[in-house]
Amino acid sequence: MRKRCSCGDIMTVKLRTVIYSGKVEIDNVPIYSCPSCSRSEVFPEVKSDLTGLIGQLGEEPKKQTFLFNEWNEWANLLVESVIGHKMPDLEQVERLIEERIDELLDLYLIACRLGDEAWKADLNKRLSQISRRYTLT
Ligand SMILES: [Zn+2]
Repeated sequence: MRKRCSCGDIMTVKLRTVIYSGKVEIDNVPIYSCPSCSRSEVFPEVKSDLTGLIGQLGEEPKKQTFLFNEWNEWANLLVESVIGHKMPDLEQVERLIEERIDELLDLYLIACRLGDEAWKADLNKRLSQISRRYTLT
């Protein structure tokens, strides 16, 4: 949850609101920011989902608000881990990720048994969002 900024200081992840087109608010987006030079960048694991969401809004979006954590498992886990804390704690996030993967795998087995293709596709997407860095065993 930390990386080194080009200025040499340590960037940490915070949940921020992203404003798109001056009208659309996307809350709870994980963003790396640097305390020294205020450089910021989107947490790499969520970048494709964020650009996907923005892509769906089109050229002339109407005024609306999204909770990014409803779209992305990483944002969801970070939101859960910051409850009661100021900054996401890496160990806690890793534990939440393991629990979440177990939970999603259980649901996936149920979806397979029911033959629910739409549910399977949704769970598959969620699993691929968070398991990118972690090897499933
Ligand atoms: Zn910096």
